[in-house]
Amino acid sequence: MLEVDTTVMTPAPVFETSGHVARFADWMVKDLKTGEVLRADHLVGNVLEARLAGDKEARGLAAQPAKEDDKKKKKKDKAKAAPVKLSDEQVVEYETILAQLDNYSGPELGALCKKHNITNPDTGNEVSEPQQFNLMFASSIGPTGQHPGFLRPETAQGHFLNFSRLLEFNNGRVPFASAQIGRSFRNEISPRAGLLRVREFTMAEIEHFVDPEDKRHERFADVRAVALDLLDRDTQAAGSTRVTRMTIGDAVDKGVVANETLGYFLARIHQFLLKIGIDPARLRFRQHMANEMAHYATDCWDAEIQNSYGWTECVGCADRAAYDLSVHSAKTGHPLVVRQALKEPIVTEKLVAEFNKRTFGQTFGKDSAVIQTLVGGLDEALLAKLQGELAQGSTTVTSSDGREFKLTPDLLTIEKKTFKQSIREFTPNVIEPSFGLGRILYVLLEHSFWSREQDVERGVLSLPAVVAPTKVLIVPLSAKTEFDPLVREVCKCILARYLAGSPAPSFVPHGACSSYLSQCSLRAPSFPATKLRKAGVFSRVDDSNTSIGKRYARNDELGTPYGLTLDFACTSLSYSRLRHLLAAASSCLRRSHVPAVQNRTMTLRERDTTGQLIGSIDEVIDTVIELVNGSIDWAGACRRLPAYDGVQAVE
Ligand code: AMP
Repeated sequence: MLEVDTTVMTPAPVFETSGHVARFADWMVKDLKTGEVLRADHLVGNVLEARLAGDKEARGLAAQPAKEDDKKKKKKDKAKAAPVKLSDEQVVEYETILAQLDNYSGPELGALCKKHNITNPDTGNEVSEPQQFNLMFASSIGPTGQHPGFLRPETAQGHFLNFSRLLEFNNGRVPFASAQIGRSFRNEISPRAGLLRVREFTMAEIEHFVDPEDKRHERFADVRAVALDLLDRDTQAAGSTRVTRMTIGDAVDKGVVANETLGYFLARIHQFLLKIGIDPARLRFRQHMANEMAHYATDCWDAEIQNSYGWTECVGCADRAAYDLSVHSAKTGHPLVVRQALKEPIVTEKLVAEFNKRTFGQTFGKDSAVIQTLVGGLDEALLAKLQGELAQGSTTVTSSDGREFKLTPDLLTIEKKTFKQSIREFTPNVIEPSFGLGRILYVLLEHSFWSREQDVERGVLSLPAVVAPTKVLIVPLSAKTEFDPLVREVCKCILARYLAGSPAPSFVPHGACSSYLSQCSLRAPSFPATKLRKAGVFSRVDDSNTSIGKRYARNDELGTPYGLTLDFACTSLSYSRLRHLLAAASSCLRRSHVPAVQNRTMTLRERDTTGQLIGSIDEVIDTVIELVNGSIDWAGACRRLPAYDGVQAVE
């Protein structure tokens, strides 16, 4: 995959050509009294959803009332649900409208507002007829502002404009893909729903270029058995939102998903989302309905993820066919095509019309071009008919304005000729997975956050190690909190000395250990943080003054999946000896020996289960590196290391 980084500010002709200027728009309505602008489909959706919720309440089927926080969050987004009972027919009608809400055109949304008496929920005022609103931010380029431009609404056009170069890098062959991560801008009509709908967001887009006649994917067999929850367009058109669980292999075989490449990417999107921690029960793939599809797409599926705002599109996956390359090529006159040498040349025979240049021009003068265009546009069957008539002596062709021209064999001959084609030229099709990173991150946080049953105040962010910002927490442990600062220094220093194999000062003055430690750790390959860093595993030491429980709890809330604990038992100190040592170190008055490490153990804690294991320092570090890299899971770690019951044996 080739990575590109293209311009954000883009000259207007690019988006005029791509169709965004004319068609990248949403439908909006205005409150007829206040002038407030609302997105037409959101208005219809919110009002009908509120009425259905009110009906449920009136029938005694209401769900739990929203919590105070939820209420605040949804205040601006949602119409209020009044407990009014609807007829059964109305319920079915509203549900059917909601199932295909994305498919309505502007005038249809206007008609729905009228038919169902939909007004601005905040004011109760009537709304205007829907009007189109272009979502691009317009600007001008250059000191005199004579060149109009737009902030890009997607990164995709940058890939298409660089197609020739990308193709060259790929030795002129398809399939190949380019990728880009960057900011995109959309002048959203109502950027509500928290961080889900914003006007500036980061996209990650892949443009995968394929042969239009062969949309197989060489690694499709690897994902064939991946099962997805699919909501196809026929189901939505029938007024239902029920998903069908199907393997992607079956979906492609049955034609539900148009081709293998599109299917391959849907499966990979599914795998990616699960890997980063999205709850599979709240993930579905919804096919776009005909009206909803972007102007460039021939088929499109959205990975939608359920969250506190409903189902939200987080990744789009479209088959853009040859649309973009064709329009840019037509506009610039620069061919954006693949030329493929054929293994076997294709030999064809065709009837070809040849005009006698001398006599033809003399006979028809300025009409010559009209006749040549007429004959040139005839298909094989009509040419054969003309050939037969010429053999009889003459034929006649008629121009679009009704004039007839008589042709004879001295002016025109039609003969069969043999053609040999050794190069095939075609415009590749594009399959495009398009990820909105902000949305994915937002729903991931919602899916990952939970509270411990025994204490709801203790939140846990169950981020998988692959996305957790800090992978490993290093916690120097103390049994008595009043000794925390000194214990931390001494433990670190002892450990650093032990691991560095270097002479540590026998006297450990309070406050001097940190600098000693940093010197040691530079030289100590197996010091936990250094070793983890070398393995590419980001760790963080929490040597704050709080209790071990609090340190675990706050790092659980930050999503750190593993904790390494350096205990007293990693030294040969008895508690009273340690107390003695600490007193000595803290006073900085007497010289005291730091005893050698004897049992060299460390504990490993897992965030979600709070289970702990114990092992030698090297063993534990190797295990945690494997856990973070995903080559073993927690069950595997439990098979490898004994459980820690809170007591460490000191040899
Ligand atoms: P689209 O080109 O409309 O299919 O958008 C591609 C992806 O960009 C979507 O799946 C979203 O994740 C993301 N996206 C689109 N519009 C917005 C927005 N206004 N705010 C945040 N993310 C967005």
